[in-house]
Amino acid sequence: MSITGTVTVRDNKYRPKGDFHRVEPNTPIRSADEGWRLLGVTNPREMVYIHSYGGEAPFFESLGRGRLLATRCDDPACGMQGTVYQPFRIHCIDCLGRNTVFDMTELAQKTARIHTFMVCERSGAFNVLPTPIKFINIEFDGVATILMSYLSVGEPAIGMRVVPIFRTVDPTYTILDLSWVPEGTRAEDLPQGFAFQDE
Ligand SMILES: [Zn+2]
Repeated sequence: MSITGTVTVRDNKYRPKGDFHRVEPNTPIRSADEGWRLLGVTNPREMVYIHSYGGEAPFFESLGRGRLLATRCDDPACGMQGTVYQPFRIHCIDCLGRNTVFDMTELAQKTARIHTFMVCERSGAFNVLPTPIKFINIEFDGVATILMSYLSVGEPAIGMRVVPIFRTVDPTYTILDLSWVPEGTRAEDLPQGFAFQDE
């Protein structure tokens, strides 16, 4: 049986419900080289990690709705006024004011291209992406920063035009709900659950 912890916020307080951790029986680690001498134990543990998104929550909510949100400093007194950030930055790094959230889905569809990329044949613990993973750094017209994501169809190349796709069926509310495919990819070739935008 898996652990069942869920969290709801009510009256501005976190309300955990269910199991948040479980300890399974341990097992000895013994040496096959030395007469099965005891060397240690394994300690199986399951836990639910509570990850709060704070001011970035609108970004993750929007991915499942087929929209890519960015932020921009709109303070006329700031030397960086008009600068657009993707990844989504809650505050301007220059004036520390609260940035304006805006929808850059169309901008991404029209101007996204691969700045550089790397292909990983092996990955770390808890990775859920199929390998090899095609990590891509994406640049956009008029955006000051570069976004790290992954290519779901085809092979990456520097300068390749790509368009965003979104996991609109059973979204995970994580960055994995956003991926990219080469411009011109057909809708039927997208990974299961993904769409170019929410219908
Ligand atoms: Zn600013």
